[in-house]
Amino acid sequence: MRKPLTAALIALVALCLVVPTTAPAQAKAPAPPVTLASKTVDAHLGYMPQTTCSPKAKPGATALLKLLIKTWGGSSSGISRGCGVGSRSEHKEGRALDWHMSVKKASQRARVNAALTWITANNGEVALRLGIMYVIWNQHIWSVYYPELGWRKMASRGGDTANHKDHVHISLSWDGAYKQTSWWTGVSVTDPLNSKCGVNGARACLPTIARTSKSWPYQSTAVSASFTPAPWKIPGVGGSPQVGRLQRAVPGSWVPDGATLTYQWTSNGKPIPGATEATYLISPEQVGHDVEVRVTAEGRTKASTNIADVYPGRLSAPVAVITGTPAPGATLAVDLGTWTPTPTTFSYAWLRDGKSIKGATAATFIVRAKDKGHKISVRVSGRLRGYYILSRTSAKTKIGAIATTNH
Ligand SMILES: [Zn+2]
Repeated sequence: MRKPLTAALIALVALCLVVPTTAPAQAKAPAPPVTLASKTVDAHLGYMPQTTCSPKAKPGATALLKLLIKTWGGSSSGISRGCGVGSRSEHKEGRALDWHMSVKKASQRARVNAALTWITANNGEVALRLGIMYVIWNQHIWSVYYPELGWRKMASRGGDTANHKDHVHISLSWDGAYKQTSWWTGVSVTDPLNSKCGVNGARACLPTIARTSKSWPYQSTAVSASFTPAPWKIPGVGGSPQVGRLQRAVPGSWVPDGATLTYQWTSNGKPIPGATEATYLISPEQVGHDVEVRVTAEGRTKASTNIADVYPGRLSAPVAVITGTPAPGATLAVDLGTWTPTPTTFSYAWLRDGKSIKGATAATFIVRAKDKGHKISVRVSGRLRGYYILSRTSAKTKIGAIATTNH
């Protein structure tokens, strides 16, 4: 049966609109080429920065870039970079890729978000299996070594290219670069390479990170355990740089057996008074500063390299519970539950049908006659220096005419 001309025309126009975008945002995430032999994800060594000149594209970088383009579209902005160009970059070792996509185009943004959700979900399960170290997109960075920090905003470096608004940057570990991680081989890496072709090989520490799901662009779920790097040529720091988290010094393979070690934690290069143990709990004063450790053994001192400034901590709290009789004339209060750590101040906003009630910002609320038949809830915000503000909203309580207890 012939379709009316207008319908055919609409169908044709729709087809034209669809064809240029080669892959939809809801493209099915790719399946690994081989079956994974065990459920263990690949071990990694944290951040392994570029240290050599070896710009030839490595097979894992080429294969991952191809996979991204095949699944979600876009194009290549390159892998190799001349060793004399710009600052330190894994592009100079052929183990970083730039996937050309634009933040400013909604369809491309949606496709990138789908791809990055696939990569980072479940605390970076796919990232670990592909040997991804970190991803930069839209001025945010996500890394396998700080999974509990999720996506972190970066300082502006200038234009759209410098701020990764016109491409996604992905850096790979050496195992990822050589295409020998479990995504490609089916066998999880247990002994990661720490440099080109595995010279100066170091033992691996398996990351002990609880798995939770997370969503783009920010991780809301707290992850308790932190990654501890394997001993390397210089001291390393285990733990994410966030207020309230414990940092652990990993002295390094240069330390003679049986040597007595001393530690000094530093902030922006200056010793932190009293911070001379193997571990250091990051305090609110350190927000925005880098924290490193100096390890001394038999007269020699080596410092760790800092890789990120300290981020504010995250409070945790249960949902607030309204107490009192939900009837006009009665006073409602809030059971806050236990907040960790304890905020110094709480603020309150009482809501009617989800909207703020003007002036109702005390810890208690006297129900008015006009609230009858409406739903009252309260939003509690906790503040503590060095921590992000956390807000928790109670369930909605329906206000009745007669006094009934709210149990
Ligand atoms: Zn790049």
